[in-house]
Amino acid sequence: MLKNSDICLSVRSVDKDKTAEAALSLMRALHPTRIEWSYVSDREVIARFREIAPVFVATLNTIFPSGHAQSFTGEPIIAPWMIGLGRPGERRTYICQNNPDDLRIRIDQATSFIADGIADCFQFDDWYCNMQMLEFGKPCFCDHCMREFATELGISIDYRRYLRGRGFTHAVEVLRAAEHEAVPLWDDYRRFQQRTVTRFFRAKDAHSWRSRPARGFCGCTVSFAGSPGWKIFVSSTWRPNAVYARR
Ligand SMILES: [Zn+2]
Repeated sequence: MLKNSDICLSVRSVDKDKTAEAALSLMRALHPTRIEWSYVSDREVIARFREIAPVFVATLNTIFPSGHAQSFTGEPIIAPWMIGLGRPGERRTYICQNNPDDLRIRIDQATSFIADGIADCFQFDDWYCNMQMLEFGKPCFCDHCMREFATELGISIDYRRYLRGRGFTHAVEVLRAAEHEAVPLWDDYRRFQQRTVTRFFRAKDAHSWRSRPARGFCGCTVSFAGSPGWKIFVSSTWRPNAVYARR
């Protein structure tokens, strides 16, 4: 895990503008001990990084590749801060942590890094995905969520259909009414989505760690100081599943 003496450098990506050579030049100047929050997947580039910084923390996230979360009205869910990025129709959509395909893709990403001996541990950006969607006003109502929620409640219910039957036509209306405790089962639904985050990481751990020696996942990092093209930061690492397991 992170030591007080570590020097962390985030090299989010390399491309024709922010080249691997430029990143390496920066690394030679800074002598980082860890490359964190990096979406670089080119094994040759990573191997060169690790000649300078021995620890490479690979990053997984909720939008690459795009996922299958679905809004109350049936559209794919895009984070508010991603709506302006890219062309319409090409924007990255959120995963749903109840969707087995979305889980499988992240497990495959992690196991590939582990099998290649590249990553010592992983960062999962926007790790509390299903709760985060709820917090930015676009809770997931996909078929997987509806099925899992009914299973958790132990009753036969399609919660989206149920809410529509009570006159709700949009998530905004649901969330406004929820502020006044006027949405049946809403507290249960919130707790269900909290537990979804825990289940997702437990399932991910169970699958990914069969091919150790990866160490674990951490949540997002904090406290940034800018540098041209990349970020140098003080990292705060913690295990989201451990936090959620206490709830
Ligand atoms: Zn869902």
